[in-house]
Amino acid sequence: MSLLIKGNVKVGNEVFLFNLPPRLTCTPTKWCLEGRKGKPMCYALRNNFRLPSVIKSLKKRYNATKQKGFVAKMVLEIQKAAPEYFRFHSSGDFYSMKYVEKIIEIVRECPETLFRTTTRRRDLTRTIRELNSLPNCIVRESLDDERPQPKMGLNFVIPARLCKNKNVFFCEDDCEECNYYCWEHRVNTKGREL
Ligand code: SF4
Repeated sequence: MSLLIKGNVKVGNEVFLFNLPPRLTCTPTKWCLEGRKGKPMCYALRNNFRLPSVIKSLKKRYNATKQKGFVAKMVLEIQKAAPEYFRFHSSGDFYSMKYVEKIIEIVRECPETLFRTTTRRRDLTRTIRELNSLPNCIVRESLDDERPQPKMGLNFVIPARLCKNKNVFFCEDDCEECNYYCWEHRVNTKGREL
C-alpha cells in the first residue's frame, strides 16, 4: 500500500498528502465535534471521510506509522514523487512525541519539498516547534471558538469570523489560485471554515 495520497480539490493534483484518523490522533474541541448545528465542524468527520473504505485506509496508515520502516518508506515515496508541496494531516494530528520525531526525520531527508500542516496538540509543543524550525516545514496552530488565542509559539489558522485583523492572510481554499502562499510564507491565515 502506498502511504501517500495525491492531491484533492483544495490543494490541487500536484500536492501529496499523508493523513491519519481523526479522533484517534487529534484532540477535538466541542466546536470540532458539534460546531455545525450540533454536527461536526471538522471536515475530517464528515462527507467522504465517513466512508468505511476511507476509515480503513486511515487506520492502515496510522498502523504504518508505528512500524519500524515507516520513516524510510515515507522518504522513499516522497523522493520518488518529488512533489514541490506536501500536506501532512488533512485529517488527524500528531499523536505522540515519537511520531513528531519521525516526521522531523522525514522532513530533513526531503529538503526539496515544502511541507505544511496544522495542529492542536499543545501537549507536544516543544517537539512540534522543533519540526517548525526546519526551513522546509511550516506548522500552524489551529484555533477556534473554544481556543481563539494561540499558545504554541507558532503561526496560526483561525476561522475568519473570529479574526478582524486585516494583516492575517485570507485563505480562499484554492491553493493553485493562491500560488501556494501559505507553504511559501510563514504567516497567520484565516478562512471561511478552518
Ligand atoms: S492560503 Fe492559499 S495555499 Fe494556503 S491553504 Fe489557503 S488557498 Fe491553499
